[in-house]
Amino acid sequence: MRADDPAIFDAVVIGAGFGGLGAAVALAERGARVALVESLTYPGGCASTFRRGGYRFESGATLFSGLAPGQLFGDWIARHHLDVTVDWLDPLVELRTPDLHLEVGRDRDAFLARLAALPGAPAPQIKGFFAYQRRIADTLWSVFEDPAMLPPLSASTLLRHVARIPRYAALLPLLGRPLTAVLARFGLEGFAPLRQYLDGLCQITVQCSAAEAEAPFALATMDYYWRGTGHVRGGIGNLAEALLGAVRTLGGEVRLASRVKAITPIGGGHQVDTRTGPLHARHVIANLLPADLQSLLDPGYGRVPRLAGLGAQVATGWSAVMLYLVARAPEGASPGPHHLEIVQDPGQPLTLGNHLFVSISGAADEGRAPAGHRTITVSTHVPLEAHRGLSKDAQAEYFAGIQAKMREGLARFAPEWTAGVVHAMTASPRTFQRFTGRAAGAVGGIPRRRGLGQYLTAFPRAILPGLWMVGDTVFPGQSTLATAIGGTRVAAAVAADLGLGAAALAPRRVPI
Ligand SMILES: Cc1cc2nc3c(=O)[nH]c(=O)nc-3n(C[C@H](O)[C@H](O)[C@H](O)COP(=O)(O)OP(=O)(O)OC[C@H]3O[C@@H](n4cnc5c(N)ncnc54)[C@H](O)[C@@H]3O)c2cc1C
Repeated sequence: MRADDPAIFDAVVIGAGFGGLGAAVALAERGARVALVESLTYPGGCASTFRRGGYRFESGATLFSGLAPGQLFGDWIARHHLDVTVDWLDPLVELRTPDLHLEVGRDRDAFLARLAALPGAPAPQIKGFFAYQRRIADTLWSVFEDPAMLPPLSASTLLRHVARIPRYAALLPLLGRPLTAVLARFGLEGFAPLRQYLDGLCQITVQCSAAEAEAPFALATMDYYWRGTGHVRGGIGNLAEALLGAVRTLGGEVRLASRVKAITPIGGGHQVDTRTGPLHARHVIANLLPADLQSLLDPGYGRVPRLAGLGAQVATGWSAVMLYLVARAPEGASPGPHHLEIVQDPGQPLTLGNHLFVSISGAADEGRAPAGHRTITVSTHVPLEAHRGLSKDAQAEYFAGIQAKMREGLARFAPEWTAGVVHAMTASPRTFQRFTGRAAGAVGGIPRRRGLGQYLTAFPRAILPGLWMVGDTVFPGQSTLATAIGGTRVAAAVAADLGLGAAALAPRRVPI
């Protein structure tokens, strides 16, 4: 395969989820010849906006970080003049449980003051815990978000790492420990409101409870609400579409409705067979789950033990059950988009309809619902292992039971919205499998449960020569921003291999 043959792409990216979009934009920015192929007619995957019955719904992800200037999406919006409007939310989310109503606002200090003013709150310990959390989060994010900090490292980057050694040392006692151990160190293990807040936050970020979460990851993602977090006007699909546009403007080829059917090794590169014809590339970047990538690989690649290992970790994770609603906005409802986190029983695991993330569109989200109405996306976590072996009928019954519990929770904790519902649809892991092609409908990536093994995959590594993965199973994974960052990290490694390593991208400072 000749590198200068114009029929050969430097990289074919399979899947226009945010992992694939991140990789494609970052490679195209470096001047690589890129093709991005997607099986659906629209981009975004689990973070897309779909049309149904005259409405537009967020399919899965609803609240996004990294949108501020100086952060990944904020920089892309500015650098590529993307037609994307960000609405900054306040509050970002409202936690509703039987005995707690806590608003998480844009002002971190005001939120901490609210937490410290709750009855029985140990205020100095809360202050100390969050100051410590911020230090750890800053250290980790400065590594994750800076493409220059990835291997292969230049001499100046190595020097920057060396200068940071005292800060990295603070991480050592945390490795392999759960977040609750840090809470205990600050004497906060018995303060129920903080524990409820953190359990909910951990479930939606690192995909497990605070008692299970690997502490450094959990402390880093505890910044989630304050790291350029907001709402993409009209739906996240607008950002995904705009990023596709950026790939095209930078000279990349985009093929929608072009499902990849097979990947075959040829002459030092790869052939990617798509519904719209074959493509040839030196590198293939798969925005797919391990099992789905394995099923596309020609037997000529041989056995790929790493895919089997990653697949086993995915199986310990989650699928999602969903409600999509259209409701009349209640009297006095704020015109802005709104997010509720509902915990029906804080004593039970935050899964199976006991925990709901409820996202309500804003009045300015044109085209999502008729005037005076809003669309609402409601999700809950379901363990993959609970429905994997069930028959189709048994699965349908199981998911319907979870949806009934979700409706009960909504009626109890968000009656102002359920009173005005005019249209309702449901979705299950089978829906995710059908639309995004994800085996068994697995979503959310690999839970970051405590253990040193979590760090083994921290730096991008090819699965096979010239064959890479991006997406939520690839570090840092777990959110729209994290998958896009993972995509840019893989792009940096691929660009280095292509001799395009000297990126024109300045390292970003990361404001909170
Ligand atoms: C219910 C739910 C709520 C969430 N809430 C949030 C949130 O509020 N904020 C947040 O940041 N994150 C949230 N997330 C997580 C976030 O959505 C994911 O981490 C992220 O979108 C995953 O992106 P990805 O690139 O890994 O994969 P995907 O989004 O699955 O993208 C993969 C793409 O590949 C395409 N594809 C699959 N097979 C093929 C093939 N053979 N050929 C071509 N194309 C193919 C698919 O159609 C898809 O577009 C949520 C996720 C879910 C499920």
